[in-house]
Amino acid sequence: MTKRTSRGILDRLKSGIVLGAEGYVFELERRGYIKAGPYVPEVVLDFPEAVKELHREFLRAGCEVMVALTYYAHREKLKDVGRENDLERMNRQAVQLANEVAREGDALVAGNICNTWAYDPHNAAETSKTVRAMYEEQLGWAVEEGIDFVISETNDYLGEALIALEVIKQLKLPAMVTLASVQRDQTRDGYDYVEACKILADHGADIVGLNCDRGPATMLPIVEKVRTAVHCYVAAQPVPYRTSAEHPTFESLEIGNGQRAFPLALEPFLLNRFEMADFARRAQGIGVNYIGVCCGGAPHYVRAMAESLGRTVPASKYSPAMELHPMLGTQVETKDKVFLQDWKS
Ligand SMILES: [Zn+2]
Repeated sequence: MTKRTSRGILDRLKSGIVLGAEGYVFELERRGYIKAGPYVPEVVLDFPEAVKELHREFLRAGCEVMVALTYYAHREKLKDVGRENDLERMNRQAVQLANEVAREGDALVAGNICNTWAYDPHNAAETSKTVRAMYEEQLGWAVEEGIDFVISETNDYLGEALIALEVIKQLKLPAMVTLASVQRDQTRDGYDYVEACKILADHGADIVGLNCDRGPATMLPIVEKVRTAVHCYVAAQPVPYRTSAEHPTFESLEIGNGQRAFPLALEPFLLNRFEMADFARRAQGIGVNYIGVCCGGAPHYVRAMAESLGRTVPASKYSPAMELHPMLGTQVETKDKVFLQDWKS
């Protein structure tokens, strides 16, 4: 597989912020191509054009990394939906689709591995073998199809993240390893998030940080501490939802009567594009190197984030020009306002 670009992820990070975008599973579920519950990316085989279209929309919005849609495309999850025999085909095709669209612009392709639900810290020796085999098989196919680096994401356990990191390093690829942050302060195996990032950095991760679970308001304070604790690159890919000190994760948001909004009734908590633009600027301000979005993410957020970083992207051609609106005109002066409440209190 020939390389699309001469500039790899580490080169790009050296010279500035890299803008990413994820949340493929969430968005393709909303579009009717993935079943909520199992959340297996069957769409890769069943509706490949839908996957390419979303890649393309993110690319036009300024995303620099096409993340292969192999999230949950691992042996454990495919068993749940009776498609274990499609495992290899699904993984290979996901990387092929990401490559096809990356070549339409100047994007990188990231292989993607994630939390497996197979890791058990109380039986680490035995379950580590299972997890390692799953990662090796997924990334083996990904490397054959052509990837520039690997994103290991939504890691609930530091132990599992370290296995991912080892497998990526054996393949001699740059490793971005980011943690889930469902619990208040620590990973499911009991490491403070900042400490866990530091351990990952000490073990050779090129990029560490957090993805998913938290909105900008509750993710950035942790990421700021990670920034001061490590020397490597730092990533922040929050969910675009209004989380708070009381409800720090999108899993904990409630729509009333104690009913939780996650994962199918989250719309009332969505941030607007200006708030996500504000997030990107704040992340830049604290020295985050890889800025993106996770579940709930959509192209309009990515474009707003790109533009807030001073970039003009293909989709900027159709960015708002409210002064041309016959009724609203200049009444909509939202561009430079600060929307997010200060999370440093
Ligand atoms: Zn997510």
